[in-house]
Amino acid sequence: MSSDVSFEAAVEMRVNEMVDACTRCGKCVEACPSVTPAGLADAAPQDVIGGILDILRDGDGPEASRKWAQACTLSGECIRACDEAVNPRFLLAMARVAMAKAKNDLSSRRKQALEKYRELGRDVAVLTQIQLNDEVLVRLGQKSASVSTTTEPPDFVFYTGCNVLKTPHIALLALDIMDRLGIRYQVMGGPSHCCGIVHMRPGDVEMSGRMGTNSVDKLSQSKSGQVISWCPSCYVQFTETTLPALERQRGARPFEMTPFMRFLVGKLDRLTPHLTRRVPMRAALHRHPGVAGVMEAAETILRTVPGITLVDLNQPALGLQGVNLSVLPQFKRELTLNEFQAAREAGIDALITVYHSEHRELCAHERDQPFRIVNLLELVGMSMGLGRHDRYKELKLMQDADQIVADCADLIAKHALDAAKAREVVIKGMLADQPVPLRSGGGP
Ligand code: SF4
Ligand code: SF4
Repeated sequence: MSSDVSFEAAVEMRVNEMVDACTRCGKCVEACPSVTPAGLADAAPQDVIGGILDILRDGDGPEASRKWAQACTLSGECIRACDEAVNPRFLLAMARVAMAKAKNDLSSRRKQALEKYRELGRDVAVLTQIQLNDEVLVRLGQKSASVSTTTEPPDFVFYTGCNVLKTPHIALLALDIMDRLGIRYQVMGGPSHCCGIVHMRPGDVEMSGRMGTNSVDKLSQSKSGQVISWCPSCYVQFTETTLPALERQRGARPFEMTPFMRFLVGKLDRLTPHLTRRVPMRAALHRHPGVAGVMEAAETILRTVPGITLVDLNQPALGLQGVNLSVLPQFKRELTLNEFQAAREAGIDALITVYHSEHRELCAHERDQPFRIVNLLELVGMSMGLGRHDRYKELKLMQDADQIVADCADLIAKHALDAAKAREVVIKGMLADQPVPLRSGGGP
């Protein structure tokens, strides 16, 4: 395949091949956990997927299919259900792009995407800088292009994505654990290494490709040809859209991507001897199964930590990560409240998050619940004698923007941030990031 094929054309070729391969059997719709909460239980599955194919061709299709596309939480059940060479989750993402294209011209799509990208960059920068000094920002690949443990090419690139930087203790623990295991890596991430999802969502495919390709080229630096990724959204964007399109353009993939939990469970033999301290705790795992194997890896790792008793709350697991359930807000609220109730009834000490987005959304509930909200890496770290303070949770638990800004005054001054703008970001990006309200209210 010659490189004069544009990114957008390469994506379209893949879409067309999948549209041709789809038999309209409807198994993907039957397997989808979004169908019932989206009010589509009575729609014929074959018609729903048929309408998606119409949208992909013409940008328009029946209401049920449009609704399904918008209600996708990226759980990936459809991928597991499909027997053909089709990725229905990717097709739904492209159906949303086709709808955006039909609705808005390129200049307004590009404008929307740029606004979102700027907003993301600002929120990540502010929420990170109010918590971290320059030294730690550099360690996370911010402030300078990246940080390397050696001058030689690293064994792996650790790709943070953007949003985990808001809860930096999670990313730092991942690095601390890799250090302890003697893994040589280079950290990259943040908005300067955008995966392109922010541009893809409003339908600016070409710009998404440019951003993603630029990041792929920066990430192609490890000796092993492996990139370890933290963020599931970046992982899906790269592995299901950007890398396959680039492969068509260039004839080869520059690297493979491995989610951090799957990487870590692959190193369990090396990790286990470091898990020396008991972490006596009854705990339950908050699950999002969108990336195959991650929750299973998380559970295996937790069962290896001495002292932890894992309790199954028997709650449904869906969505790529917490934030992806926001397309079905009422359903998300019900799931969360049901999980809290089950957790209370089970008498657990802690609810364990894996990804950053649910950690941000859930952590302040610790105020109202008789159990803690902790990230999995905190528990692994405890057992290894590694600790990182969850400053994000500490700040969010204050539930008062003025108090938070005052508490961060030193770092706000050090990074020359505008305190009023920082306060706005705290209100919108931290305190309002609360899909299920706290019991006794609270807020800015
Ligand atoms: S995407 Fe797969 S499961 Fe869905 S209708 Fe087409 S062939 Fe069937
Ligand atoms: S990814 Fe999940 S939510 Fe999205 S369509 Fe597939 S099964 Fe449904």
